[in-house]
Amino acid sequence: MQHTSDIRKLVRPGVRDLSAYNAKEIPCRVKLDANESPYSAFSNQLSAFSNKKIFKTLNRYPDPEAKGLKSALSKNLKIRPENILVGNGSDELIYYLITTFGGPILYPVPTFSMYGIIAKALGEKDIAIPLDGEFDIDMERTMSAVKRERPKLIFLSSPNNPTGNCFSTERILKIIEITSLVSRHPSLVVVDEAYQPFSSEKGFLPLLGDYTNLVIMRTLSKIGFAGLRVGFLIADPIIINEVNKVRLPFNLNSYSQSIAAAALRNRKETALNIKLIVSERERLFNELEKIKGIIPYPSEANFILLRVKNADKIYKGLLKKGVLVRNMKGIADGCLRVTVGTKKENDIFLKTVRKVLG
Ligand SMILES: *Cc1c(COP(=O)(O)O)cnc(C)c1O
Repeated sequence: MQHTSDIRKLVRPGVRDLSAYNAKEIPCRVKLDANESPYSAFSNQLSAFSNKKIFKTLNRYPDPEAKGLKSALSKNLKIRPENILVGNGSDELIYYLITTFGGPILYPVPTFSMYGIIAKALGEKDIAIPLDGEFDIDMERTMSAVKRERPKLIFLSSPNNPTGNCFSTERILKIIEITSLVSRHPSLVVVDEAYQPFSSEKGFLPLLGDYTNLVIMRTLSKIGFAGLRVGFLIADPIIINEVNKVRLPFNLNSYSQSIAAAALRNRKETALNIKLIVSERERLFNELEKIKGIIPYPSEANFILLRVKNADKIYKGLLKKGVLVRNMKGIADGCLRVTVGTKKENDIFLKTVRKVLG
């Protein structure tokens, strides 16, 4: 007799050993677990869409090239449309990069988990190098891994999720230079700037013209549009053309293209919300520093990593009172990550965490 568990024998080993990404919805009053913006920007202008063309042309496929959206981003960031590839979130772009270039994939840890998950799903080797004591790139170990393993792709989330800091620009540049395409160990260096809008640093866009092996990722997810699923790859047109070969033809639906383009053309509200979040981040950090039993790490992003004595207990205690944060167990043991919310949400979090700590 056939058994359903026999199915698993057909599954590729790299996939069989994975478990599904745990993005289950946990009911709560205050949601501070996923680094979303607490503000649904753009809600006022959205009504303008109700009689727009997209509703009358739903029988047609979306623009496969996302021209309108690319043009809006192009004006926004002052880069040419040929330098841009649009993805269904930057998650999809990570998938495409690894599909296009293959492994090994190298990244520092702790970091965003999708680099490793997608590498494994695609059967590619992934190499995780622990960050140093300051949460910066460990140059010695990274350099020797680069020379030994010759990774095709190096993923650097800066600001880094979940530690919140930017990696040192000098160290990133050194990695880009040592892996230049004419070196003995050429590699693409992907700087994932999902949180750059919250950072005091300029980011790597101004350096794009100087290094062919530099790839930058941006996303709308953390600045108010997680529901749209829109991410951007910014790189030399030669790289864009190669990655574009593996892109599914209609990867971004008509609504997302249209609303994202409009959002990029009306930056005012989004920019204001980012300012509010940054100032709340500073206030939240200062308040957390005063609480005995919590060590908050400085952040350039829209979240703060906290070291606590009994992370599991505090996580559960918060949730019991309706406050959801991220338990970093398995990624950064003994730590919780809290997303910066509205002032009201942050106050509820602070009050609740003080209570839970006793
Ligand atoms: C959230 C996050 C992403 C995912 O972005 P999407 O555009 O929503 O897929 C990418 N990189 C990092 C570092 C993130 O934290």
